[in-house]
Amino acid sequence: MTVPYWLDKSFGEAPVEADVVIIGGGISGFSTAYWLKDAGMDVVVLDKGDLASGATGRNAGFVTCGSVEHYTRQVSRHGPDLARQLWQLSQDNIRLIREVFVEGHGAQCDFRQRGTYSLAGTAHELGELKDAAALMQQRGIDVSVVDEAHIAKELGAREFFGGVLYHDDGEVHPRKLVESIAAHCGATFYPHHEVRAIEVEDDDTVVIRTHRRAFRAPFVVMATNGYSSLLHPWFEDKIYPTRGQILVTEPVAPMMAAPCYCNFVLDYFRQLADGRVLIGGFRQLAREAEVGVADVPHPEIQQALEAFLHQHFEALRGKKVEYRWAGIMGFSADGLPLIGALPQHPQIYVVGGFTGHGIGMAVRAAQMLAGVMLHGESAGPLSARRLG
Ligand SMILES: Cc1cc2nc3c(=O)[nH]c(=O)nc-3n(C[C@H](O)[C@H](O)[C@H](O)COP(=O)(O)OP(=O)(O)OC[C@H]3O[C@@H](n4cnc5c(N)ncnc54)[C@H](O)[C@@H]3O)c2cc1C
Repeated sequence: MTVPYWLDKSFGEAPVEADVVIIGGGISGFSTAYWLKDAGMDVVVLDKGDLASGATGRNAGFVTCGSVEHYTRQVSRHGPDLARQLWQLSQDNIRLIREVFVEGHGAQCDFRQRGTYSLAGTAHELGELKDAAALMQQRGIDVSVVDEAHIAKELGAREFFGGVLYHDDGEVHPRKLVESIAAHCGATFYPHHEVRAIEVEDDDTVVIRTHRRAFRAPFVVMATNGYSSLLHPWFEDKIYPTRGQILVTEPVAPMMAAPCYCNFVLDYFRQLADGRVLIGGFRQLAREAEVGVADVPHPEIQQALEAFLHQHFEALRGKKVEYRWAGIMGFSADGLPLIGALPQHPQIYVVGGFTGHGIGMAVRAAQMLAGVMLHGESAGPLSARRLG
């Protein structure tokens, strides 16, 4: 993308100088700013919309450690060591949210750590979940198997074969969490500044151009997740914009002890602090259509979400759906987050590619990025450079 002369409202104005410019005012961008602040850096955060206007303000608010994917699948896909590291990353992430923001800064973000369930809709899935739970227990991860009666009593749900409870998981109001991170990150925020071009000058200074202003800094961080390929061609085959759908009902009496995943972690639901029930997922019904950066509701999927609630929760039959929305996730080429500098551009960093689970990873991933930027640490197998 480019900024045409005609639209350049910054014309004749001196660019804003900073030590680091972060593009993206979601959980990744503001968390990165937060972890850089102790280094006394002058940090600017830019967003084309407002705070949390991307996936961060459009997700389901699960803060997940163990349930990104059934653990046995994580192990076969990434190997036992990396599966354990990923679990540890998420575990550190929820600890940081709790200790630093909720307890440390008093964030009022409806944070609760009651665990999450993964429920089986078939006997086959229950078998897989039990295997995963056994493997996790061997590795010292706190998980237990639950039966149909437990699910009916604790979740008010029926027609599940059983499931597992990941005790370390939690939930949050994502926008409120990020408002707290932003309030304590010490950065200057420029909302409604869409970055149209990133240029690296001969002396390695990076110029970041929006229609309204230009910014100059030695380093830029792309915290643009699913939107990254619109801004830089390197991301075209690294982070794919992928749409997800959600609906939220009117408030009902308390019925769910904790948030739930089901159907191999593709679908998910939880009862919010005000009693409303949120459900998302079912993108498997229209995988080819649910790509790109337009956050439009998909009628067939929205209908399926509603039908699912009616099938499994008697208490929700006849209840009004009060919100429907879609949001854009950044699915990475290998399912793992990207942390660090781009291979050809040591001044351009990325933190993103969370593949639908950034609330459960981004605070810690951003801390790892700050370690890379400030202390030359390595993000190991999550380094962006692994993708060439
Ligand atoms: C429907 C749905 C449900 C989800 N549920 C969960 C869940 O329950 N738990 C979980 O862990 N994760 C969930 N996720 C994923 C999670 O929301 C994301 O992984 C996370 O929010 C990513 O945060 P981010 O800051 O990296 O990206 P984003 O929040 O997408 O932020 C990127 C920001 O960059 C800005 N931007 C983009 N391009 C430009 C530009 N050119 N100039 C300026 N600004 C720009 C955007 O406006 C946006 O604000 C879900 C996502 C969706 C869509």
